[in-house]
Amino acid sequence: MSKATKQLADLFHEGLKDIYFAEKKIVTALPKMAKAAGSEDLAAAFKKHINETEEQVTRLEIVFELIDQKPHGRNCPGIMGLLDEGQEVTKEYKNSPALDAGLIAAAQAVEHYEISRYGTLMVWAQQLGMTEAATLLHRTLQEEVKAHALLTQLAEKALNREPQMA
Ligand code: FE
Ligand code: FE
Ligand code: ZN
Ligand code: FE
Repeated sequence: MSKATKQLADLFHEGLKDIYFAEKKIVTALPKMAKAAGSEDLAAAFKKHINETEEQVTRLEIVFELIDQKPHGRNCPGIMGLLDEGQEVTKEYKNSPALDAGLIAAAQAVEHYEISRYGTLMVWAQQLGMTEAATLLHRTLQEEVKAHALLTQLAEKALNREPQMA
């Protein structure tokens, strides 16, 4: 293995730990967000993503196995900050008609974080010649893109429901 390849492989392993930590935090945050959501649709979207996220954790464990490593998380300050913002909006906009808009915005930021991480990891897996890992990461990437799109739809739907100003 060349020095450059070895370093990319290290980066890949570190990146896996980062997103593994993040997904596990997201699994615990989503039920709270579902509970906080004002609309049934939004609660359902969060609940659907709990199941997907559990599968994403399992997929990551397979990728760890593919590089002969035990699945370990590594503290990711990025995701902790984004999830904190979600909790903040939940508290500050409790009972406000804008609560769902705030929750959607917080969740969109989380999906963007994940899309960014999985996009990078997928490309690195390809560059490292790890086709199977790249396929698994791509599958998750697609789920995150879909979750993001569903949230956008719900945000637009909520706007359309808004009473017209006279
Ligand atoms: Fe995820
Ligand atoms: Fe991170
Ligand atoms: Zn977006
Ligand atoms: Fe997600």
